[in-house]
Amino acid sequence: MALKQLGKFVSYSPFGINDRPNIGLIKGGKCSLAVDSGNSENQARLFLTTAEETGQKPDYLVLTHSHWDHVFGAYYFNAKTVCQTNTEIEMKKMAALDYSDEALNLRVKLGTESVFSRNNIKNEHPTRSSFPFPQVDLTFTDSIAIHLGSVDCIIKYIESIHHAGSCTVYVPQDNILFLGDCLWMNMSVPNWYYSIPKLYTLSKELKAYDADYYIDSHCEPIPKEALFAWLDGMCYASELAIRLKGDKAAILREVELKRIFENLEFIPLEMVIDALAQGASMEQ
Ligand SMILES: [Zn+2]
Repeated sequence: MALKQLGKFVSYSPFGINDRPNIGLIKGGKCSLAVDSGNSENQARLFLTTAEETGQKPDYLVLTHSHWDHVFGAYYFNAKTVCQTNTEIEMKKMAALDYSDEALNLRVKLGTESVFSRNNIKNEHPTRSSFPFPQVDLTFTDSIAIHLGSVDCIIKYIESIHHAGSCTVYVPQDNILFLGDCLWMNMSVPNWYYSIPKLYTLSKELKAYDADYYIDSHCEPIPKEALFAWLDGMCYASELAIRLKGDKAAILREVELKRIFENLEFIPLEMVIDALAQGASMEQ
């Protein structure tokens, strides 16, 4: 699997089937760092083989959050593992979980696992009961900087409704920011939702980086102008959701909304509006 070069130091292995996320790679003069490990031994090994062939085997692995698709490949990296403290806590819980069909189906029934995740876990891992996790080497609460020689990685906690313990990875020399899944809604409950106040804060925080590219885990890298337009669109859609009291059909009838999100579907518009409508009704 070829790596796509995005900056002088930053490349990535693209997202794919079964909810496989982008895996980022930052190559410094002294050592290299990977962003996320992929959703399986298979995805991790495909990435690591290419990285090794090009002399970029990662010395560090940063996990942007503990969702299965970002951490199930981590054990195979044999790198110093870095994550936010909540992510370490969550991974310890996940290491003790049963992932058999029966256990997954029960968690879906109880609302603690989504149908989407269960189906992708089953597809990516036809036989399974549990998954190995690596020892975490470095944790942080707010931020940590790692110097790779000629390039730096600023790893910072970000308050995202998607998952506790989320972080971003900023590479100043390339002016590129890895987002993990921080743009996404909370998908850990049966009714997926956005927190509208947290969305406003997230928008401000991401714009402050003024990065040339923003790398979400499940789509192509997003140029600054497109990300800013999407964030503005999300804030506008949030206002609509509040004003229209979470009436999804009424929100979707707004012509201006369709115009704003045209060509900006990093996350399907219907899914976004569903989650905003849910968030607005929870605010009331
Ligand atoms: Zn996630």
